Amino acid sequence: MEHWLNKRAALSPNQIAIEMEDHSVTFLQLQQKSQQFARQLDNLKPNGHIAILSDNSIDMAVAFWGCTYLQTPVVFLNTRLSRSEWQQQCNDADVGLILTSSHYLEKAKHLNVSVESFLKVKKLTVNEVPLLDEIDAEKVCSMMFTSGTTGRAKAVQQTFHNHWSSAVASSLNLGLLPEDKWLVCLPLFHIGGLSILIKSVIYGMPVYLLEKFDADKVHQAIMKSAVTLISVVAVTCSRLLERLGSERYPDSFRCMLLGGGPAPKPLLEQAKAKQTPVVQTYGMTETCSQIATLNEKDALRKLGSAGKPLFTATLKIVDEKEECNPNQIGEILAKGPMVSPGYYQHKKQSNEWLRTGDLGYFDEEGFLYVVDRRSDLIISGGENIYPAEIEEVLLMMDGIVEAGVTAEEDKQWGQVPVAYIVKNDKQLTTDRIKDYCKDRLANFKVPKQIHFRDQLPRNATNKLQRHKLK
Ligand code: AMP
Ligand code: MG
Ligand code: MG
Repeated sequence: MEHWLNKRAALSPNQIAIEMEDHSVTFLQLQQKSQQFARQLDNLKPNGHIAILSDNSIDMAVAFWGCTYLQTPVVFLNTRLSRSEWQQQCNDADVGLILTSSHYLEKAKHLNVSVESFLKVKKLTVNEVPLLDEIDAEKVCSMMFTSGTTGRAKAVQQTFHNHWSSAVASSLNLGLLPEDKWLVCLPLFHIGGLSILIKSVIYGMPVYLLEKFDADKVHQAIMKSAVTLISVVAVTCSRLLERLGSERYPDSFRCMLLGGGPAPKPLLEQAKAKQTPVVQTYGMTETCSQIATLNEKDALRKLGSAGKPLFTATLKIVDEKEECNPNQIGEILAKGPMVSPGYYQHKKQSNEWLRTGDLGYFDEEGFLYVVDRRSDLIISGGENIYPAEIEEVLLMMDGIVEAGVTAEEDKQWGQVPVAYIVKNDKQLTTDRIKDYCKDRLANFKVPKQIHFRDQLPRNATNKLQRHKLK
């Protein structure tokens, strides 16, 4: 395949590639900057893979595309980690050089890996080195550590073929309009962000890039900058709907793609009431983002579903190897060209199916419902309890803004559910919350304890980290 960015720069040189609040670049400029960056990077001759540590910026995008011209996989580091976690990940992923924005330079300098800022690289001599003009689809393009909502993170390898398949499958479901502009407020170091940067080049579609999520900035961009699509997670979706108030997004805004974690029913109902086109999707780092997504036309009829597997993707639900019947909960397994070939330096699973570790079921029409992570399952006196179901009920109650449920060890029951809550009503008591739950949930699902917090632990994508609730 001809290098995507070269092809795109030839096809749509003057189209905007990345738009930020104060500046933007066209595809031709992005190509030129990235190629120049690659030639300057050549001076550094890194001994190992290249990592990027940065908040969202055009420089970060240029560094990424620059690396693709040198056919070196890019390891994306999460800016929120501690120094020792960065070190660990650099060791695990054989990183020989970290490229950073100026902001992280000081912190990264103390690591046992070479570090250069984007700025510094851009001052190096431009070497006359041959750049890749063909993409080898089977090569690894990017590596990212799973967001670590459970256990220790492993580096997921994503090939060019994975990214290509993901971009194509997404557009076969959502469609692609000439006026499309996708707003990115998820970090580019997570798949939810990077996948859109790549789609932009494959589709010839501008990305509206924010350094990070900010409800007001996102709101303004949708209202005034002709954004047509955006990817969000539950809590950012909720903040946007709150910011929206009684206003309505323009008709040209066609899709708010909601993924990354359970989609609480009350949130979906609220979006529906506000005529906001929220579409649920299911995916993960290992599947290069979306693998199942609801179709816009089924969005209201199948509220709560993550849709059907995308074109070329296959999902199946199994219980101890037996395939489940409709409406029967089991583990979700995934297969398809967007599924990662495996974790860096970990033995590949012999089975061709990826075990997602998520529980879900298909309804009779083949629509997927994701229930919860298997590891978050609470087993109380032999009964299965899904934290997401309790969180959903809690979020329906007035005065509760955020809710997280996790297991607590219990002598009598083995485990019991406990809830952590952010409230915006000072009068709200734990007794009232328990009563509310009792009216709506079986007794064993009612949280045994309720703790109030100012905020809940979330990762860089704003996903709830249930294992850190305690
Ligand atoms: P990550 O570690 O960032 O790759 O996150 C992927 C995980 O997020 C999945 O394995 C699921 O546990 C969760 N997830 C993603 N989409 C959904 C969804 N629509 N409903 C419930 N959980 C989801
Ligand atoms: Mg995961
Ligand atoms: Mg994710």
